[in-house]
Amino acid sequence: MYDNEIKRVLVSKEQIARRVKELGEQISRDYEGESITFVCTLRGGCVFFADLIREISGDVEIDFIAVSSYGAGTKTSGEVKMVKDLSSPIKGKNIIVVEDIIDTGVTLSYLKRLLASREPKSLKICSLLDKPSRRKLEFEGDYIGFVIENEYVVGYGLDYNQKLRHLPEVCVLAPEVYGG
Ligand code: 5GP
Repeated sequence: MYDNEIKRVLVSKEQIARRVKELGEQISRDYEGESITFVCTLRGGCVFFADLIREISGDVEIDFIAVSSYGAGTKTSGEVKMVKDLSSPIKGKNIIVVEDIIDTGVTLSYLKRLLASREPKSLKICSLLDKPSRRKLEFEGDYIGFVIENEYVVGYGLDYNQKLRHLPEVCVLAPEVYGG
């Protein structure tokens, strides 16, 4: 299935599960005795988010935000716009933003600036994937699952034209699909 779209599996189900558990344990240790509000960035972060929060011991609240910087396909538009804001105020709370991937850094730089202006107690970024070679803005995540090369990936929440988010692994999209 999906043989035409997928070049190869980059991160397997087992590797993801192991790393998500480790991140959950690390975050639980770092925030011992504190409650955390996890902010899921829609739509790409949703699968990672659902797995990660179940590895956290301690008090957890969740909220959702959607910003978009991508047009259709695999190219960023470079412009970020708010699509859906958080449902609750975050002033005085420990916030961890859960993202699928840090690529150019444009989206998270915007999001971090926006959320910081609301005066949370703390604000950290957790991303499943990081493509440091693609940065346009200097940006570093606080918790990173896997550092990857400059390849367009799909699955485990990540899409190509809104499809393939349901694949259980992180896969490299076949360049023929997008003419890369
Ligand atoms: P940035 O603003 O850091 O360039 O981009 C962040 C967003 O771009 C991610 O949340 C994700 O939606 C999208 N993106 C960046 N690289 C990839 C990729 O390799 N695959 C997919 N599916 N989306 C990506």
